[in-house]
Amino acid sequence: MTGYDKAFAAPLHEEMTTVSHLECSVTGKRYEAGQIWNLSEAGWPLLVRYDLEALRQGWNRDWINNGPSSMWRYAPVLPVRNPASIVSLGEGMTPLIRTTRLEKKLGCTDLWVKDEGINPTGSFKARGLSCAVSMAKELGIKKVAIPSAGNAASAMAAYAAAAGMEAHIFMPVDVPQANFIECKSFGAHVTLIDGLISDCAKIVGDRKEKEGWFDVSTLKEPYRIEGKKTMGYEVAEQFQWTLPDVIFYPTGGGVGMIGMWKAFDEMEALGWIGPKRPKMISVQADGCQPIVRAFETGAERSEFWKNASTVSSGLRVPKPLGDYLVLEAVRKSGGTAIAVSDEESLDAGIELATLDGVFAAPEGAACVAALKKLLDSGFLKPDERIVIYNTGAGLKYLEAYSTRYPRQASGEADKLGGMITPR
Ligand SMILES: *Cc1c(COP(=O)(O)O)cnc(C)c1O
Repeated sequence: MTGYDKAFAAPLHEEMTTVSHLECSVTGKRYEAGQIWNLSEAGWPLLVRYDLEALRQGWNRDWINNGPSSMWRYAPVLPVRNPASIVSLGEGMTPLIRTTRLEKKLGCTDLWVKDEGINPTGSFKARGLSCAVSMAKELGIKKVAIPSAGNAASAMAAYAAAAGMEAHIFMPVDVPQANFIECKSFGAHVTLIDGLISDCAKIVGDRKEKEGWFDVSTLKEPYRIEGKKTMGYEVAEQFQWTLPDVIFYPTGGGVGMIGMWKAFDEMEALGWIGPKRPKMISVQADGCQPIVRAFETGAERSEFWKNASTVSSGLRVPKPLGDYLVLEAVRKSGGTAIAVSDEESLDAGIELATLDGVFAAPEGAACVAALKKLLDSGFLKPDERIVIYNTGAGLKYLEAYSTRYPRQASGEADKLGGMITPR
């Protein structure tokens, strides 16, 4: 018996999960758990459902502390049945950091950064891919494929390596160098494409059947959402089972937003939190803002954003498949959607690093820039409890940040005092 069995076997279930079935996010049609699924028959993302009533009666949120210090402490509300299927590199349980100096500068009083850059492979994509690769392992899948703007590829390559699976990766040729080098180092098969993530997706779609690949594309398999939703559980746990007033989330495919929104509903069904929700703020880049445009025009779905371009590579998703789910969360929560320029993002990233020691990815930094605007406009009040999700590590974006710091020697070593140079 493993530690997981002891800590998590939900009293009314033999397995550590309480998964009951999957359902189409549009039609509600049910699909059986424990089988390989991509999209629903109608072509929409599937959502995983759990027996929350049984869990509510037989399981206590305080038991979470018996679990590991990773997102797998939430195993009863994750889809894996057999603990031996879990492929973990220590993802999740990231720090929630109070950024007091930035707070003062911006004139607010309760500002926090959830630093997802601490995750394996330097982004929150680790959560989604740990869950997806664990499920792939449980379902006997041997080869996984992904089209990616960068960080999802790095995470998939790492977890596939840890699971002993073959990984096939398709990324735009201008993906950050860190992502390319990571994927190669993890032993994945990497193809660079002169195009966007949507072009990469098409190639995976066309080839997967013949090659026997399982398609792990954003929202085209049901389990990445489940991993990412743990960001919602964690923020509640870290604030002693209360939710903040406002959440800033840099939105590409929107999986994290959809996942957190789902987590809040699950926690309410479990009796862990009440009906109050944070205002969900979807942040995008000026050069690719399909969600912002749809939000502003009152549309239910987004339109393909042409010539998408931004240094925030994770936000370069011209037509998110789950746009309607993102827009629903933003609207129902009383939040908003807002875009910022790359310049504003990099400035804000440097400001956050300088003031509070957190070096954010441009995606996370975009949220800092957006926060400034929403405080200035009066949309947010200064005393609200605000959490910014920094979805990745600044270190993964050296090309973007190095535009700010052209490198030049400013002195000769042996004249700078104390340093000895060989002659
Ligand atoms: C993928 C990614 C995003 C966007 O995530 P979604 O949940 O798909 O919207 C944001 N930031 C970083 C650093 C990413 O890698």
